[in-house]
Amino acid sequence: MTEKGRRGFVSLVGGGPGAPGLMTLHGRRAIERADVVLYDHLASPALMASLQVEGQERIHVGKTAGAGLHAQNAINELIVQRAARGERVVRLKGGDPCVFGRGGEEAAACRQAGIPFEIVPGVSSVSAAPAYAGIPVTHRETNSGYTVVTGHEREGDATSRVDWEELARGGRSIVVLMGVLQASRWSEALLKGGLPGQTPVAWIQRATTPAQRTVVTTLAQVVQARDEHEIRAPAIAVVGDVVHWRDELAWFENRPLRGQVIATTRAISDDREAFAPLEDEGAILLHVPLTCQRPLEGSLDDALVDRSYTDLVVTSANGVRALSGALQRRGLDSRDLAGVPIWAVGPGTARALRGSLGLRADHVPDVHSAAGLLAHAASHGVQGRSFLFPAAAAARRELPEGLLELGATVQEVAAYETVADPMATVRLESALAQGLTWIAIASPSAADALVDALNTLGHKPDRLSVGAVGPTTARHARGRGLAVRAVAEPHTMAGLAATIMSTLSTSEEES
Ligand code: SAH
Repeated sequence: MTEKGRRGFVSLVGGGPGAPGLMTLHGRRAIERADVVLYDHLASPALMASLQVEGQERIHVGKTAGAGLHAQNAINELIVQRAARGERVVRLKGGDPCVFGRGGEEAAACRQAGIPFEIVPGVSSVSAAPAYAGIPVTHRETNSGYTVVTGHEREGDATSRVDWEELARGGRSIVVLMGVLQASRWSEALLKGGLPGQTPVAWIQRATTPAQRTVVTTLAQVVQARDEHEIRAPAIAVVGDVVHWRDELAWFENRPLRGQVIATTRAISDDREAFAPLEDEGAILLHVPLTCQRPLEGSLDDALVDRSYTDLVVTSANGVRALSGALQRRGLDSRDLAGVPIWAVGPGTARALRGSLGLRADHVPDVHSAAGLLAHAASHGVQGRSFLFPAAAAARRELPEGLLELGATVQEVAAYETVADPMATVRLESALAQGLTWIAIASPSAADALVDALNTLGHKPDRLSVGAVGPTTARHARGRGLAVRAVAEPHTMAGLAATIMSTLSTSEEES
């Protein structure tokens, strides 16, 4: 125990090979709970970005190939020091922490210092890289096992620590890690051991990331292929007949939206579902919240207590959240809305009503916009009705004015306001570092926040392709210099995803 009254704890976490989805739930949880994360160059920036934890310290303990004992000792010391202060420490490593990751040494340092630790295994590049290249590391028809070896030997070692000749005779496929620089050394050793020169070899670089590349060659040509195609670490080599399966099974590098990195930007939303079809086509989805909603307490609370309304109209999940907050603050619940017809602008809002308040929307128009809702209201007749409308501060006038014209009265209350998320710039920076190509925005305020963040980072506003959820957002975004290349039809997030998809497929065909 420390003066903080907390006991330190160390998680040695495998971050997987690069794609954020290839990290374990246990590892994510460890990061969410950590005070400090120590990571190195193999920890995927995509992963780090997808796991923003407020107030968490992150330390790059950069250690590139071949760094000596000294660097490792310093890392061990840092881990122990931080935990001894009572902090929860995550040591995040690429792949699996104990596959050429020196996780064992770090665990031993914890044990020695009497610090409790856990080892959270990860998806190793050993299996992930071949899988993403369409190469099963074992296949009943070709081999009964596989061997994982390091291709890196310390300079000056007279005898190899790997028995390459035994490997050459073993009949197993061979996965070589850290084998880029010394490819001539290990390939010659395998040839010398009797492996035929035409044995297929696959170089797989930056596996599971948008930059993944696979080059198929032969054992005799391994070095030449490396140089010709500029293969650089991190890359693995797979040696053996299993490589032939790639002809049939390659999948990751062939997908139509490969290389597209697309960000959604609404703070709390089910946009991921809406954009899932793009993921299936190979795009990478990031979540980069640009704005957040601040609830405005008071007027909605009072309106709910007064109950001078006959109907309720809600136009966003934020409105639903504001409603729920106001009910709670006044000790009310859904029963206090009994008998009040509820009008929702679209299915997302209707789902939010169901989800957070257990309320069914009575009216959801076919066209999911203010105009659509007004058309629906007109056909229904709302003469003499009195609408309560929890809205955004500075919301557009279209809906309340339209309802007035239809002979209703509207009690519009400012229930929440949209502000730029203070983390937007940091998140955008890391998304750009991951090759962000497209960004989906759902409001004029998101466009403003995007332009501000790009400015702060020193980029021109037209640096990214922008998808806008509707014409109002698109107009505003263009006015601010953003390159709007898709406007959703219909004006929903699912509509936006579909429009971006068709825009990308068309431009793909043209190029
Ligand atoms: N613990 C890691 C391996 C660390 S050794 C793991 O389990 O994956 C570093 C070597 O791993 C690199 O030189 C490379 O051979 C391999 N490697 C790691 N990530 C990789 C990736 N995304 N694509 C290809 N090879 C990778």
